[in-house]
Amino acid sequence: MPSEKTPRSSELLARSRRIVPGGVNSPVRAFRAVGGTPRFMASASGPWLTDVDGRRYVDLICSWGPMILGHAHPHVLQAVQEAASRGFSFGTPSENELLLAEEIVARVAPVERLRLVSSGTEATMSAIRLARGFTGRTLVVKFAGCYHGHVDSLLAAAGSGVATLALPDSAGVPPESAAETVVLPYNDIGALEAAFAEHGERVAAVITEAAAGNMGVVPPAPGFTAALRTLTRRHGALLISDEVMTGFRCSRSGWFGLEGPTEDGAPDLFTFGKVMGGGFPAAAFGGRADVMAMLAPEGPVYQAGTLSGNPVATAAGLATLQACTDEVYARLAEVSGTIADAASGALTEAGVPHRVQWAGSMFSVFFQDEEVRDYDDARQQDTAAFGRFFHAMLEQGVHLPPSAFESWFVSAAHDDEAVQTVLDALPGAARAAAGQAP
Ligand SMILES: *Cc1c(COP(=O)(O)O)cnc(C)c1O
Repeated sequence: MPSEKTPRSSELLARSRRIVPGGVNSPVRAFRAVGGTPRFMASASGPWLTDVDGRRYVDLICSWGPMILGHAHPHVLQAVQEAASRGFSFGTPSENELLLAEEIVARVAPVERLRLVSSGTEATMSAIRLARGFTGRTLVVKFAGCYHGHVDSLLAAAGSGVATLALPDSAGVPPESAAETVVLPYNDIGALEAAFAEHGERVAAVITEAAAGNMGVVPPAPGFTAALRTLTRRHGALLISDEVMTGFRCSRSGWFGLEGPTEDGAPDLFTFGKVMGGGFPAAAFGGRADVMAMLAPEGPVYQAGTLSGNPVATAAGLATLQACTDEVYARLAEVSGTIADAASGALTEAGVPHRVQWAGSMFSVFFQDEEVRDYDDARQQDTAAFGRFFHAMLEQGVHLPPSAFESWFVSAAHDDEAVQTVLDALPGAARAAAGQAP
């Protein structure tokens, strides 16, 4: 790729590769799926990213979800500066933790108790341990293409970077750990029923993305969430709804706010991250009071963290959630709708098979035209066409996630200028995807 156009990024990447595996601290940042040089960012403001070569991009990654208000939002920045001026970390309880927990509990009704952690991975890992401790069982059911962080037992057939890089599963996961995970196709109620018929009384929990966003956006088919709840309840297993991506993005109460409880009730446990940290490391898991009471120091399931509930991170998360007003969600829907419609129009015009799928205002564009209901469907995409599309967008100043298996993220700070920049870039990128000259 044209490294002469990004000399500083190329130089930093070369230096970084000598020290950091692949030159990146999280695999999806490496551009492995699309080729070329990842851009090292120097700063960000509102909907814009600026790289070390002084190039400016409309940001459609938004840090993979957290930056729902845009970068360096004044209200959040002020909260962070004020919190930081009072100290960085106490290792004792502090009020901000409580305020953030109260805000989350107020938004997601079935969450009666909540514990803060520092990453989505920690949240799902802890929720799984808790479910095992509570039920005294070990098996966990997950769905192919759903990503729940890089927890050993949850890396089987995971989405996100594992999908992007077409990794079978991770090396280094003990077979015993993988053997405790049953992987089923997403949205397949029959497969779920069969798994429960076979393993029913050994299943500690089913974990699912409330609406899948890590194989591209694949919402639960009608009846799927209800079947999850009914079957887990019938067999004495817990239902863990992973809202790390969808939480506080799909609606003010996440995907749960859109779908609500099913006839058999709400999930037992929820996991949150991304938006609730406002760009800082803060995440959480919570749910039923009797289940959460199993956690140390009240109960026997151990879980801890030096930086859990960090005062600066919780200040950022609280300020972010408080600023997520109805107007913010309305703007997200408007910007998403405009961009998705224009992308679809441009791809249609260029004759590129594609399909847009939604979960609230979260969407992604699949480079194939059949409905995508599960991971096998998602993998039918023309990832080479996406790669050409991605680079043509990047060249025109729009930074998409560098993978066909990811949601496109917008923020409420995406103003008319930013949206217009995206709209202007789409026709050329669609022609590039079609293999024509842009
Ligand atoms: C991002 C994500 C995670 C992992 O969160 P990290 O903070 O990256 O560890 C877990 N589950 C889902 C659904 C996610 O999107």
